[in-house]
Amino acid sequence: MNSRKVIIFSAPSGAGKSTIVNHILGLHPELEFSISATSRAPRGTEQDGREYYFFSAEEFRKMIAEDRFIEHEEVYPGSFYGTLKSEVERIWAKGHVIVFDIDVKGGVNMKRIFGDSAFSIFIQAPSVEVLRQRLEGRGTDTPEAIERRVAKAAEETEFANGKFDYVLVNDDIEKAFKEAEKIVDDFLAR
Ligand code: ADP
Ligand code: 5GP
Repeated sequence: MNSRKVIIFSAPSGAGKSTIVNHILGLHPELEFSISATSRAPRGTEQDGREYYFFSAEEFRKMIAEDRFIEHEEVYPGSFYGTLKSEVERIWAKGHVIVFDIDVKGGVNMKRIFGDSAFSIFIQAPSVEVLRQRLEGRGTDTPEAIERRVAKAAEETEFANGKFDYVLVNDDIEKAFKEAEKIVDDFLAR
């Protein structure tokens, strides 16, 4: 029985979290992605209620005041992200296991909140140089934004030390997929 379990994925930007989370979601129909609320603008083909629930900063602050979030963070200056209590209830009501894709601080907070019902995974690139190359290769960020993300990654990796159930070093992607599959299977079988 999978009731009331959660899997938390956190990583510095560019480490390969989206790639690995999407792979895992494709393998297990009982896993469901938690759609966060955010005050940032939609990017590209993103749709409200699919990648995120989009709100204005004012609406987001009002929801914080109404205590509607399990956790929330200002991940980038002026950009709020958070998990609504209603989202957790929505997924659990279906008997599904929740998959969170949240920033490193949020991941640590979530693990504290859900305790043994949660398994938290920190995804790391093999080195800072590789992380920079991946961000350059993805082609979605300006050089300045890449430098900011790389600097933040170093801080986040230090902060994460010892606070996650598992650290997955994403070097070869096929190996990382296999490692992620195994730890998720083991957790689901518990
Ligand atoms: P994140 O969600 O952590 O920001 P992404 O999943 O978007 O990261 O990955 C960042 C970039 O690196 C993407 O272009 C992705 O295709 C690439 N990537 C991910 N994992 C690997 C890997 N093991 N080897 C090489 N490139 C990778
Ligand atoms: P992006 O803007 O690239 O979609 O996401 C930026 C960062 O916000 C990512 O690290 C993502 O995991 C994180 N994030 C997304 N949703 C949440 C959330 O609900 N809470 C927290 N704390 N971080 C989130």
